[in-house]
Amino acid sequence: MKIPKSHPRFVSLNIREKIVSGYNNGLVAKEGLLAHGRGEAFDYLIGERTMRSARTAINAAAVTLLTAKNSVISVNGNIAALCPKEIIQLAKITKSKIEVNLFYHNEDRKKKIVKHLKNAGAKQVLGTNPRSNRKIIGIDSPRRIIDKDGIFAADVLIPLEDGDRTQALKNAGKTIITFDLNPLSRTAQTADITIVDNVIRGMRLLISACKKAKTKKVSFNNRKALASAISEIKNNLKRRATLA
Ligand code: ATP
Repeated sequence: MKIPKSHPRFVSLNIREKIVSGYNNGLVAKEGLLAHGRGEAFDYLIGERTMRSARTAINAAAVTLLTAKNSVISVNGNIAALCPKEIIQLAKITKSKIEVNLFYHNEDRKKKIVKHLKNAGAKQVLGTNPRSNRKIIGIDSPRRIIDKDGIFAADVLIPLEDGDRTQALKNAGKTIITFDLNPLSRTAQTADITIVDNVIRGMRLLISACKKAKTKKVSFNNRKALASAISEIKNNLKRRATLA
């Protein structure tokens, strides 16, 4: 559907169209549409802009990625549909690998996601070679299957995640950077660096932060950053409440 530029929700509706066409093209699972809807609701509360706390998290994520030994971007259908070019750019700048890993496992969908990323310029996408399969301990979903040369060997991971897996991956000694519009989700609460922003805006900012970042460690406290994100949402709502 073509959204007129004058529509007050032009940006949000365009993002929604990307997810819908990802679904129609077999990249996004039905459940992915619901997950996107949950994200949209939080984006509304945030004010559909990048909060200050997210910028701080993005800077910490950039340094962490640039100093990682073996970083991997874990891709699902939603992120592949929303920002394929950005995934590839980020992988290039940070020398990260790309692995497709799905919660709602489906070989056909996986192949389509790999093809979509390759069409967007990816050279190598891990996650499809059964001989490279390894398992993460402490998790039952099909997402426990990971690539021995990708997530299995990674020290730093950057995914749109699910709560159980974030904990299991942390238990396996990995540093987790995640994008999550919901600062209250288990993923947001468990990751080492949570960027509370729409992946569409956040990925672009992360790429430019990586271009500028110095490789000097920064101190970052995810608990504090999440508290700041919640405070910023609260202040945004307060402002709206007085204007209403
Ligand atoms: P958890 O298991 O971590 O508590 P959840 O059950 O809420 O999380 P899902 O139902 O898989 O997780 O929902 C997907 C999550 O992804 C939501 O928290 C939502 O805010 C977030 N999300 C959806 N779309 C985007 C997006 N475009 N950018 C960033 N985050 C997003």
